[in-house]
Amino acid sequence: MDLSRWLRDAANLVNLSTPLGLTLAVAGRGRLRRLGHLVVFDHVRLPVTDAGAMTVGSVVLVFRDSLEKAESRTPTVLAHEEQHAWQWAYCLGLPFLLFYFVQVGWSLLRTGDRAAANFFEVQAGLADGGYRERARRPLREGIAALLRQGR
Ligand SMILES: [Zn+2]
Repeated sequence: MDLSRWLRDAANLVNLSTPLGLTLAVAGRGRLRRLGHLVVFDHVRLPVTDAGAMTVGSVVLVFRDSLEKAESRTPTVLAHEEQHAWQWAYCLGLPFLLFYFVQVGWSLLRTGDRAAANFFEVQAGLADGGYRERARRPLREGIAALLRQGR
């Protein structure tokens, strides 16, 4: 038995992130299966953006497609998603959402992309998640660009 993963999954159960992931998966009518230490739901239908997959607690939600289809585009996507399960655990569950969205904002300011400078996506492996590296821009330029978009 892999004790560290078992502890992570227990933490994500207690910190309510896995129950939230299960709720989203059921609401999105995903197809359930167990894969190693992760619970994977394929063909989840939720009104989310362009994400191919998302991890909430120790639950991987694959949108519109099967995991195999997602892996045909990005072979390392499950390894990437498993890193997010660890992040949910060390952020003690739901606070991860707040930290993650702060990082999305930071990444948009610095690169114009929601993932490229997002600490959590970088730590999970940008390439593993199908994201590209992007050049950092000065903060002043990022603010100006976002203000232009807002008009
Ligand atoms: Zn990711």
